[in-house]
Amino acid sequence: AKRHDTGGYAVFAGSMHDSAVKALELQTDLRNALARDEFVLHYQPICDTVTARIRGVEALVRWQHPTRGLVPPGAFIGAAEETGLIRELGRWVLHEACRQMRAWRDRFPETDLRLSVNTSGEELKDPRFVDGVRDLLADTGLDPRVLQLEVTEAIFLQDPEYIAGILDGLRALGVRIALDDFGTGYSSLSYLDRYRLDTIKIDRSFVTRMLTQRRTWEIVTAIVKLGQALDLDIVAEGVEDETQRQAIRATGCGFVQGYLLGRPASAADFARTLEASDEA
Ligand code: C2E
Ligand code: CA
Ligand code: CA
Ligand code: CA
Repeated sequence: AKRHDTGGYAVFAGSMHDSAVKALELQTDLRNALARDEFVLHYQPICDTVTARIRGVEALVRWQHPTRGLVPPGAFIGAAEETGLIRELGRWVLHEACRQMRAWRDRFPETDLRLSVNTSGEELKDPRFVDGVRDLLADTGLDPRVLQLEVTEAIFLQDPEYIAGILDGLRALGVRIALDDFGTGYSSLSYLDRYRLDTIKIDRSFVTRMLTQRRTWEIVTAIVKLGQALDLDIVAEGVEDETQRQAIRATGCGFVQGYLLGRPASAADFARTLEASDEA
């Protein structure tokens, strides 16, 4: 038994070591990637549920890795948050997204798209965050109401009072706040009660199940009713087929996002979509 235990420990220690080394490597790689400008933003449309017209766009970061290709955010956002690099990465994302939106507004003067940018709690905790956003909007000449920051419930876990102050500061600038992945956390309703928000995004998991599970359908319907009563914009995430869009439409949910309406695409491809649509 002793030998077995030792062997088990050795394997455990080995994998601990491996994962620690991997984490360190990832941290170094991310730092280099920022320095080498290897991050890119892709853009996914957010559409009116009834007309399917593009009303907004969500910026989603990717890592254009020299050998591994396009790396999705799920592979590095967590590490960036743990190492604190998310602040620098988040700053880059926000600047790049606003710069791009400015360029689209200049090129397509008719466009009144709203820009959504994901923001992690680590970024919000930066005491200079609100000032940074204000300066960025002034520099790019973007109307603050164009910008919507998407946050998740997780931001409220550590210091809810402080975070509430940051969100108030952002809203005072005119920036909108969306609660992302709505319904997946522990106390989505209490956050709706306590904080002023502008938009809720119904998590994809509900949209996926609502046509096969009666309970899920009732929950989605109730979320939409609640959102309407609170004067919030409501976006259904992860709409992949026409049946889902029709079902979402029947709930009265105003906006849809998902592969059916458009996959995340490069800025150049998204511009072509804008050009082809009557948005531009
Ligand atoms: P999210 O904010 O919930 O973004 C939606 C995710 O769902 C995106 O994955 C998008 O590509 C995917 N998606 C959209 N429509 C559909 C659909 O119809 N079906 C399916 N199966 N998926 C769909 P992505 O781009 O891999 O991003 C994953 C997550 O990474 C995001 O989830 C967000 O939490 C985070 N993330 C992305 N960009 C950033 C960023 O710039 N900053 C921060 N802090 N987080 C980011
Ligand atoms: Ca999001
Ligand atoms: Ca989401
Ligand atoms: Ca998510």
